[in-house]
Amino acid sequence: MLCGCSCLSACTGGAADPGVSVTASYPPLSAFSTGLRCRCPRCGVGKLFDGYLTIAATCGHCGLDLAASDSGDGPAIFVIFIVGPIVTGLALWTEVRFTPPIWVHMVLWLPMVLGGSIWLLRPFKAVLVALQYKHQAGDSRFTESK
Ligand SMILES: [Zn+2]
Repeated sequence: MLCGCSCLSACTGGAADPGVSVTASYPPLSAFSTGLRCRCPRCGVGKLFDGYLTIAATCGHCGLDLAASDSGDGPAIFVIFIVGPIVTGLALWTEVRFTPPIWVHMVLWLPMVLGGSIWLLRPFKAVLVALQYKHQAGDSRFTESK
């Protein structure tokens, strides 16, 4: 039994159908759990990335085709909204409290902005890809490749 959406056989709409094995053999996983571990959104075992931010073509464990995933600028926006206010608040507090020379700000905040952004970008991208898989969002369609 299909759910009536355009996702073809990959989605059963929550109905237990023994004829559709794609979702039946992989129980739903938390998008945040798999995303923060940078693992495949379907099986939770295979690596999601092939490189630092490059999504692997397929999952090495379950064969899920990950080429259709596209998180766009979403991860960067979330990182900006997290790192920006934190660094800005700390920089303002430091300026008001200690009034240091400008080079102190450069030494403190430039590495914090770069390091925080690089550190957070990968897990945020993984979580968005996992949410995209979970909700079959956008134009992407994850398919079976094995
Ligand atoms: Zn997988």
